[in-house]
Amino acid sequence: DKDAAPTPASHRVTTKGQDVPQSLVSFAALKDRFDVSSRLLQNLADCGYKTPTGVQEYGIPILLAGRDLAAISPTGTGKTLAYTLPIFASLKSPASRSQDIAAAGVRAVILAPTRELAGQIYNECLKLAQGRKWRIVLFSKATATTLADKDVRDKIDIIISTPLRLVACLKSETLELDNVRHLVLDEADRLLDTEFLEQVQEIFAACSHKELRTAVFSATLPAGVEEMAMQMMRNPIRIVVGLKDT
Ligand code: ADP
Ligand code: MG
Repeated sequence: DKDAAPTPASHRVTTKGQDVPQSLVSFAALKDRFDVSSRLLQNLADCGYKTPTGVQEYGIPILLAGRDLAAISPTGTGKTLAYTLPIFASLKSPASRSQDIAAAGVRAVILAPTRELAGQIYNECLKLAQGRKWRIVLFSKATATTLADKDVRDKIDIIISTPLRLVACLKSETLELDNVRHLVLDEADRLLDTEFLEQVQEIFAACSHKELRTAVFSATLPAGVEEMAMQMMRNPIRIVVGLKDT
C-alpha cells in the first residue's frame, strides 16, 4: 500500500556517527534543502511515494550531504530509493548533456548480488530518470562488446551490475571507473561475503576518484561483514532501522 508510510511505529531508527544531518521530514523538503530539481520531484510523485520511509528519512540527507553510509533496514522498507534518489539528485545532469569534461564517464556504480535484483534496481532507476537523457546501463554478458566504443562508454551515467559482470569489463579494459563518485553495495551482507568479496574489492580499487562516496545497504550486517564495509568508508554514518541489535 503506497499510501501508507511503510515504517511501522515499532521500527525505530538509530544513528551513529559524527555530525548526522537532520532527517528528511518530507520529500517536498528536498527542494529547499538540497536544490533537487522539480523534474526529479515530479518523477518521485509519479511513483506514488508520499512520505519517506525511515531508511529514506535518514539515508537521503546523509548521502546528499556527501557522507559515507552503512544502512541496515529490513526488507521492504524502501532501501532502493534511499540511494537512487541521492544519486540522481547529486549527479544533476546526464553526462551526454554536459559540456564539462569532469562530467564524462561513469559516475555511479550500483552493485547487487544477483542479476534479478540488479534488474529491479534498474527499473527503479528508470522511473526516476523519466524525462531526461540519463544513460543507465544494466550490465549483462553482451555489455563488454557495447563498451568497446569509447563514445558509448563516456556517456554512461550509472551502471547497475553484479560484481562478476563488472569485473569482466574491468579485466577486458573496456571500462574505467576513475570518475565514479557514488558506489553503492545493495544487499551488502552478500556482496561482502566470501563469494563476492574479492570482486567487490577489485571494483572498489578501480573507483579511484578522491571524491568517491561509498554506501552499503542491507537488511542485516553481521559483524565480520560490517568490518569489511568500514574499510571501504571514511567517517561513515551508520543507521539501523528496526529493533536495535545491541
Ligand atoms: P528494500 O530494498 O528495503 O527491501 P524496496 O526498495 O525494494 O525495499 O522497496 C519496497 C517497496 O516499497 C517497493 O514496492 C517500493 O516501490 C516501495 N516504496 C519505497 N519507498 C516508498 C515510499 N516512500 N512510500 C511508499 N512506498 C515506497
Ligand atoms: Mg532491496
